[in-house]
Amino acid sequence: MKIIKQNRKSICLQVKNNGEVILKVPINLPQKNIDEFLVSKQNWLDKSLKRINQTLEIKSKYDFNKYVYLFDDNFNKDEILKKYKNVKNFYKANINYLLERVEFFKNKYNFNLTKVTINNSVRNWGTFNSKFEMKLNLKCLILKKDLIDYIIIHEFCHSKQLNHSKLFWQEVMRIIPNYKILKKEVRDFGFLLRENLY
Ligand SMILES: [Zn+2]
Repeated sequence: MKIIKQNRKSICLQVKNNGEVILKVPINLPQKNIDEFLVSKQNWLDKSLKRINQTLEIKSKYDFNKYVYLFDDNFNKDEILKKYKNVKNFYKANINYLLERVEFFKNKYNFNLTKVTINNSVRNWGTFNSKFEMKLNLKCLILKKDLIDYIIIHEFCHSKQLNHSKLFWQEVMRIIPNYKILKKEVRDFGFLLRENLY
């Protein structure tokens, strides 16, 4: 843990995405107060580090310099570049898969939808608004197909509940009884959204 004493009023504990832990403390704060603070934050710290280590482990299985990933499968990047000129074109050539899955679930469960667009958000796998418009991230194509289905159904359930309330998760569970496992997995792959792949 890196401890920084600085001119500040409160203690601040940070865990960075690379697993580094930084504690910022007011210059004259007694050690006893620092120790008490750390004890109170121990659970949070353990959980945060566990999550970050999981992400780092998943991340270490990818080599974005050598491979391009589609549906959790990998393809030689040089060959993809030869054929598609850039990685984004390769993903764009596969957009239909996403659109077809959207159409499939829309018809199967009679969901309301006015428009679906594919975007490159660094924050979300998908969004759904009150105008019944769905946005899906192009990077969904990197994921396993059952995770893509989870993301699409999650967004469709927002056509009934715009929030993440209990009622919302009940809607999701009606369609995907084991949604909790998929939800966690999707969260574990969240780093892909911020990865510069194209
Ligand atoms: Zn949501």
